[in-house]
Amino acid sequence: MASLLSDLQACLGSDRVLTDAMALAPLLLDNRGRWQGRALCAVFPSTTEEVSEIMRIACRHNALVFAQGGNTGNAAAATPVVNDTDVSRTVLLSTTRLRRIEKIDTVNDSVVVQTGVPVAAVRETAALQKRLFALSLASDGTATVGGVLATNAGGVHVLRYGNARDLCLGLEVVLCDGRVLDLMRGLRKDNTGYDLKSLFIGSEGTLGIITKAVLKLHPLPASRKVLWLSLDSLRKIEPLFCAFQKQAGHALSAFEIVHQTPLQRVAQVFPEKVKTIDTHSPWSVLVELSYSDTQDETQSADLLESLLEGLLEQGIITDAVLSQSEIQCEALWAVREAVPEAHKKTGGNVKHDISVPRSRLAEFVEQTNAALAKRFSWIEPSVFGHFGDGNLHYNMGVVPGQDPRLCFAFEKEINAIVYEHVARFNGSVAAEHGIGRMKRDLIEQTKPADELQLMRKLKRIFDPDNRLNPGAVVSP
Ligand SMILES: Cc1cc2nc3c(=O)[nH]c(=O)nc-3n(C[C@H](O)[C@H](O)[C@H](O)COP(=O)(O)OP(=O)(O)OC[C@H]3O[C@@H](n4cnc5c(N)ncnc54)[C@H](O)[C@@H]3O)c2cc1C
Repeated sequence: MASLLSDLQACLGSDRVLTDAMALAPLLLDNRGRWQGRALCAVFPSTTEEVSEIMRIACRHNALVFAQGGNTGNAAAATPVVNDTDVSRTVLLSTTRLRRIEKIDTVNDSVVVQTGVPVAAVRETAALQKRLFALSLASDGTATVGGVLATNAGGVHVLRYGNARDLCLGLEVVLCDGRVLDLMRGLRKDNTGYDLKSLFIGSEGTLGIITKAVLKLHPLPASRKVLWLSLDSLRKIEPLFCAFQKQAGHALSAFEIVHQTPLQRVAQVFPEKVKTIDTHSPWSVLVELSYSDTQDETQSADLLESLLEGLLEQGIITDAVLSQSEIQCEALWAVREAVPEAHKKTGGNVKHDISVPRSRLAEFVEQTNAALAKRFSWIEPSVFGHFGDGNLHYNMGVVPGQDPRLCFAFEKEINAIVYEHVARFNGSVAAEHGIGRMKRDLIEQTKPADELQLMRKLKRIFDPDNRLNPGAVVSP
């Protein structure tokens, strides 16, 4: 019988079956550099038929298959972490050659794409037809459509447009035995039984390989305003959010919060980015308002000015920067988007991607910060995220002068305190980055037993041999 490798080479040609250790290395390390994977090879199919044939070959050779898109995920979900004995049957399936944008339908407001297309490329193509593909994340030049669907990614515009699941009208999925499931109807209404499409969204490559998608588009906003607001206390965030909701209504497209510490990290690493804003304020908020036509924006301009005056008078905000051009909008967003890179460059921190009801978020931060400060004298919260979605990147680093490695030495204990508070606030321990390998044990401890049992049963139905991304999301 031919070997696994020779069958894959016969299917794709040797140039699309990578075995060289140097070339494989970046694909085998997770985005945060904390999880090291191993594999016999990486394969690069460019059609659904090739993905299907790879799965048939995998079945014949009892191989394990790990789907990978842009490898920007934050839960080590795309990293093939396997035992010594399994390396020789481990195949990393890169979707990066599934790169065709097939069709835009401007009546249905949808686009059909292969799933290795980067998210930003979908957005750029849609914009040419005056449509918006509304998923927007700092990694979206590299993150793929398959990756954002498989993790049900969020990003900065969930408040207005929803997350990846809300932006998906159809899928094509290759199942573990190579069969191709066509769920590409692209309908906005379809109540014909269980919604299988939704099951694959957020399944992190454990139930099937998503090869195509029909994505929902929206009208392209004609213009936008971005505001950078300073707050002296987190308690002011609720009246601030309600004021914008009331005044801007549907135009409110992002409401992002940044604590002083991450802002100062950005100032340290990228001083040129923070020239126009107050970096010493305890909390800052980035608000984006987008308008369907320029008339809307003109009509709103006076209202916005008087809203800001009122907020300053009432002491809800202490400073405000209002963009006057698209370049200034970009510049304010660049500050917010520089936070993950600034954290990375200044030693990193222990990360938590949590959500709690928006109305309890300030209370959550106060109580959890206090519990951590009581236990660790050197701890420094470095919090930012999507207040509009009740989702925070609740990160814990060290005060200046301490070795950043200290927080990793106490990671387990920090996590225990944080997750105990998340449970108390009825929140989620994985709001947008998924479970992957990083949080598998955590959900096994925190999810109700019945829910976990049903998840395991579903995994067995779709993948009885545990061939697809084993080790991620749930244990067998
Ligand atoms: C700077 C930065 C900012 C980020 N901001 C956000 C944010 O705001 N919101 C957010 O949600 N995430 C964010 N992320 C995380 C990450 O970008 C997302 O999780 C993204 O969805 C991953 O896409 P990817 O193509 O890189 O997937 P990968 O990392 O390659 O894979 C992620 C998971 O999807 C699976 N997968 C990939 N493609 C397929 C497919 N075709 N079929 C089946 N399974 C597949 C993999 O097996 C894995 O389980 C950020 C990351 C970085 C580095």
